[in-house]
Amino acid sequence: MRKVSIFGATGSIGQNTIDLIARDPSAYNVVALTGGANVRQLAEDARRLGADLAVTAYEDCLGDLRAALAGSGVEAAAGQTALIEAAARPADWVMSAIVGSAGLAPGIEALKQGATLALANKETLVCAGKLVLETARRHGARLLPVDSEHSAVFQALAGEDMAAVERIIITASGGAFRDWPIEDLARATVEQASSHPNWNMGQRITIDSASMFNKALEVIETYEFFGIEPDAIEVLVHPESMVHALVGFRDGALMAHLGAPDMRHAIGYALHWPDRRDLPVERLDLAKLGQLHFRTPDERRYPALRLAREVMARGGLAGAAFNAAKERALDLFLERKIGFLDMAHSVEAVLDRFEAASGLLDVAMTLDNVRETDHLARKWVDETVIKRA
Ligand code: NDP
Ligand code: MG
Repeated sequence: MRKVSIFGATGSIGQNTIDLIARDPSAYNVVALTGGANVRQLAEDARRLGADLAVTAYEDCLGDLRAALAGSGVEAAAGQTALIEAAARPADWVMSAIVGSAGLAPGIEALKQGATLALANKETLVCAGKLVLETARRHGARLLPVDSEHSAVFQALAGEDMAAVERIIITASGGAFRDWPIEDLARATVEQASSHPNWNMGQRITIDSASMFNKALEVIETYEFFGIEPDAIEVLVHPESMVHALVGFRDGALMAHLGAPDMRHAIGYALHWPDRRDLPVERLDLAKLGQLHFRTPDERRYPALRLAREVMARGGLAGAAFNAAKERALDLFLERKIGFLDMAHSVEAVLDRFEAASGLLDVAMTLDNVRETDHLARKWVDETVIKRA
């Protein structure tokens, strides 16, 4: 039996992971499931899967979690230390599906115990790519991409030599506003930004798709994970979300990965790698689809893409600052304190401020320094907003 843990088990990726694991219960021994405020779901899944441990990220949810687990034999715990302790419990395969930079520390801890880390949490590589890859190397742990584009690239690269790769193209649906006039974007509401044309995902990543901050994070994730030059990474708007990524080789060949927009493909690929197993995902009927469309993204509509290039060129802790500023700006948009386009404006203002404060982004990439950068970036977003109001 394989020992597995799922971080962010109550979320969209977490629930899809549980769906796959629950189809074959005799194959898995569930060590830990973690969640946040949704303790009802967490307890239900922990009972059903016979997990050893269930952890909520929030200490004030512990009472409810304990009550929901009464008599089940599942251990309950809460808080940041408990999350790290859960990640330190030996497991063969760990799903990293917490949303945001909160996923970084548990992911690093899982790598330290040598687990295979299935990485849905792209923020991990954006905030601390070099540290994460070095930790994996040092502990003989493996990282497998779960983000659909990166899983697609990983699959297209199987058996290939990175030296033969000329470019990597990741696709983007264009999000909720791809066909809106640019002038209207400033007035876009939370509700409008929260509906995705093709994928069914958590609310935060759905809004990040509308602004393309999600794609910006993914460009940086591509850069960190595959170690390719920033100029060799391209983004294509592809409204149908059937082609997830393409790898261009030096002989001119393009290897594309196609599949239905269902995260269980990428999750299942990471779960069974290096094998392929049957997965309950829709099979594409290309004749029925008839046509697929591609176009170059307009950087005026999606300033996040330009910011991602600046972050890669800057290096150091710029990724941590960028991601945290984006997370905080998204909080403020969700709280209806700033408009849709203000998110990119605030992030850019904060990156400029980091640049002006010489040396801040050039300290060593340690977990503590990443955390400090993260805190400062969030604080500066708030100050930028106050200045504007
Ligand atoms: P969701 O918002 O659906 O779920 C997030 C999970 O993290 C939930 O279990 C939530 O708990 C938990 N959580 C939230 N805040 C914290 C915190 N501060 N500390 C610990 N746990 C927390 O997100 P998604 O599943 O959509 O996304 C998860 C990650 O996967 C993100 O990094 C996203 O970018 C990435 N991803 C997602 C895709 C998708 O299709 N959804 C596709 C590709 C990547 P609770 O709900 O109980 O409060
Ligand atoms: Mg993706």
